[in-house]
Amino acid sequence: MARVMITCPETGKPVYTGMNFDWGPFDSVQIHEKSVECRLCGEIHTWRRKDAFLDEDGGEA
Ligand SMILES: [Zn+2]
Repeated sequence: MARVMITCPETGKPVYTGMNFDWGPFDSVQIHEKSVECRLCGEIHTWRRKDAFLDEDGGEA
């Protein structure tokens, strides 16, 4: 499984959204608007699938 990440608009760094996906399903899945409490800046960030990317180093599935 890969971790679904977004880029924090405050710090420009990747933030783990708490979701995990395999590469194949992630390409076809419909994800509606989500929000995540950012570990880096403490704000709530709203994101959509187009904002997200996968980090294959995710080991904490
Ligand atoms: Zn943030």
